[in-house]
Amino acid sequence: MSELSDSEIKFLPGVGPKRAELLSSEAGIATFRDLVYYFPYKYVDKTRFYSVRELDSDMQYVQLRGVIKRFSAEGGGAAKRLTADFHDETGMVRLVWFKGHKWVTNTYKIDKEYIIFGRPTLFSGAFNIVHPEIEEVEKRAARVSSALEAQYNTTEKMKDHFLHSKAIAKLMSAVFAQPSLRFAETLPSSLTGPMKLMSLGDALFRIHFPDSNLDIEKARFRLKFEELFYIQLNLLRYKGNREKKTHGFLFPVVGDRLNSFYKNNLPFALTNAQKRVIKEIRADLGSGRQMNRLLQGDVGSGKTMVALMSMLIGADNGFQCCMMAPTEILAIQHFNSINKSLQGIDVEVALLTGSTKRSERQRIEKGLLDGSISILVGTHALIEENVKYLNLGLVIIDEQHRFGVAQRAKLWQKSDCPPHVLVMTATPIPRTLAMTLYGDLDVSVIDEMPPGRKPVKTMTFTDAEREKVFGFMRRQIEEGRQIYVVYPLIRESESLDYKDLEDGLESMARAFPPPQYCISVVHGRMTPRDKEISMNLFRRGQAQIMVATTVIEVGVDIPNASVMVIESAERFGLSQLHQLRGRVGRGADQSFCILMTSHRLSAEATERINTMVATNDGFEIAETDLRMRGPGDLEGTQQSGMAFDLKIADLGKDGQILNLARSHAAEILADDPELSHAENQVLKVNLKRLFGKKYTWSEIS
Ligand code: ADP
Ligand code: MG
Repeated sequence: MSELSDSEIKFLPGVGPKRAELLSSEAGIATFRDLVYYFPYKYVDKTRFYSVRELDSDMQYVQLRGVIKRFSAEGGGAAKRLTADFHDETGMVRLVWFKGHKWVTNTYKIDKEYIIFGRPTLFSGAFNIVHPEIEEVEKRAARVSSALEAQYNTTEKMKDHFLHSKAIAKLMSAVFAQPSLRFAETLPSSLTGPMKLMSLGDALFRIHFPDSNLDIEKARFRLKFEELFYIQLNLLRYKGNREKKTHGFLFPVVGDRLNSFYKNNLPFALTNAQKRVIKEIRADLGSGRQMNRLLQGDVGSGKTMVALMSMLIGADNGFQCCMMAPTEILAIQHFNSINKSLQGIDVEVALLTGSTKRSERQRIEKGLLDGSISILVGTHALIEENVKYLNLGLVIIDEQHRFGVAQRAKLWQKSDCPPHVLVMTATPIPRTLAMTLYGDLDVSVIDEMPPGRKPVKTMTFTDAEREKVFGFMRRQIEEGRQIYVVYPLIRESESLDYKDLEDGLESMARAFPPPQYCISVVHGRMTPRDKEISMNLFRRGQAQIMVATTVIEVGVDIPNASVMVIESAERFGLSQLHQLRGRVGRGADQSFCILMTSHRLSAEATERINTMVATNDGFEIAETDLRMRGPGDLEGTQQSGMAFDLKIADLGKDGQILNLARSHAAEILADDPELSHAENQVLKVNLKRLFGKKYTWSEIS
C-alpha cells in the first residue's frame, strides 16, 4: 500500500527526532515520500580508481586505494588541523581534517586498506584531499551500490550534523529497503505505454540507484515529463472550465472614439505587429467570450498604444476600462500620455494611485459609479475591493512583477461575467516560462520594433575608466542629449545601496557642477511628489542628467534621453539590464548603454555583461537569463502565487519535454474535458493531490 510513503520521516531507521527536524526544516523532507522525491543533483562514477601518480589539480573528484601511514596534528587554535599520509604504490597524498580529529584517529587504522574519495588540491608541492570520504575495502565490496553514486545537496547546517550527501544516500537505501514501500503509478497507460515511459516506481528507484547513464536518462525523462504534464494539465483544464463557464462582455462595435482617434490623433503609423495584435484583441472582444490574453513584446515595441486602442474599443461599447501599472511613476506617465493622445476625443480619463488625495479620490469614486469616467489609470489601488465601477469591461495589466493565475483569478472570481483581461509583460519572457506561468492565457506577440530605431550601442567600462566615461557624457550633453545614471538597489542592504547612490551623486556633482549642469535625482525613499518634481525636471529637459535607483526601471519614456549609464552593472540580473537599456534608443538619435563594472567579475557576471554587449534581442536575453539562473530561481514564481516547486524539470533546458507534456495534456482534455473516463481517474486523483488544496479551480465559475 502507498500509505507507508506518507509516514513521518522520523520513523525511518537511522533518522530519529533530531535528524527528522533538521531534514524537515532544512530540506523540506517530512515524509518517506519527500525523501524519495529529494533528487540527486549529479552522479559520480565510482568504478574508476586513480593512482597518486596520475593526479592533477584539474580533477574534480578522484578515488584512490591505499593505506594510511601516519597521522599528525599541525597548527594550533583555530588553524589546528589533522593530517594523514596516505600511500599507494605510486606515491603519497595528504589527507586533511579541520574538525572531528578525535573521531578520525579513533576510526581509521594505520596500515589498513581504504578507499578514499575526494577532490585533490595542490598545496605547497603535494596533493591534499580535504575531508575525504573513506571506506574500508571490504565494506565497499559488501555494499550493494550502483556504479554511479548519487550526490545530494545539503545545507551547512545539515553537514554540521553529519547529514552530508553520503548520509542522505544511506537514508535512501533505508527507505527503499522498506518492504512495503510502493508508489502507485500516476500516469494513465495511454501515456506510459505509447511513450515507453519508465514506471513511476522504477523511475524513483533508478534516479537514486542507477546502473547506467541510460537508467538516469530514462528515469529523469519520466519524472520531468510527469512534473510538467500535471502543471499543463492543470492549466489547460482550468482554461477549458473558465471558457465554458464564464461569459464575456460583447464589444461588437468599432465606434466614434476609436475611429476619430485613428484618423486624427494617431501620432505614427502602426507597425504590422501592432496591427495584427489589435486584430487579435478585437476578435476576442467581439466573440462574447471573456478575453484572457498575454501580450508579449520587447521593451519599446509599442505595447502602450495597443493598450490604449483596446480601451477605446471598450469605451465605444459603453464599458469602463482600467490600466494597472507596477509603479506610481509609470502610472502617472501613462495617464499623462493617454490624456495627451486623446485630445479632442470625448472620453474621460482619471488617475488613481496610493497617493491620490482624498477629495480627488472621492470625485473619482463618484465618476466610476455614475459612469462618467471611462478610463482609469493607476497602480494596484484600482483593482482593490473598495473601488467600485459601474461596468468595468476591460482590465489591462502592465506588469513588472509576474501577475499569476491566482491574482488573475481574483479579478473574475466574484462575477459570472468578469471583465476582459490583457496582461502585458514588461520584458519578454522565455516561451517555457510563459507556458508555465501563463499557460492558461492566449498569447499575442509584438515581434517588430517601430521603424527608424537605431539599435542601442552597449559598451563596458571599469571604475578606473570613469574619467573617460565622464568625458563621453559631457560631449553627449553638448549635443543636447540627456543621460540616465542608475545605481543598483538590493533589498537586503538598503542603507548600503543608498550610500552607493549618495557617493555616486557626489562625484557626479563634482564632475558636472552647476550652473552649467543640472542633475535630478529619483529614488525609492522620496515622496511621490518629490519624485514627480524630479522626473519633470528631467522630462522637460531642464536637467541633463538623472541619477536614480532602479525605480526608473519600468517603462519610463523620454525620447531625448539617449545614454544609459548603469553603475555596478554586475549586480543586476540580465532582464533588469535589458529593461534599463530599453529606456534609451527611443528617439531618432544613436543611443548608448554604458555598463560600469568593477575590475574583477565572477564568471556569471562576465557572461551577463557579454550577453548584453552581444545582443539587443529581448527574447534571446530572456532565454540566456533562464538558462543561466537555472531551475531553482525563477523570478516571480513566488509572487505569482504559482507556488509550484519544480523538483526536477528545468525550464531552461527542458523545453521539448514541456511541449510534449502540453500537447499530451491538451489531447487528453480534448477527448475527455471533465476527465470522467475510467482510465483518466488517475489524473483527477493526482491533480487534486498536487493542486487541490491551493486552487479549487473547479469551483471558480
Ligand atoms: P513598451 O512596449 O516598452 O511599453 P511603449 O509603448 O512605451 O513601449 O513605446 C515606446 C515608444 O515607441 C513610445 O515613445 C511610443 O510612442 C513609440 N511608438 C509606439 N508605437 C510606434 C510606432 N508604430 N511607430 C513609431 N513609434 C511608436
Ligand atoms: Mg511599457
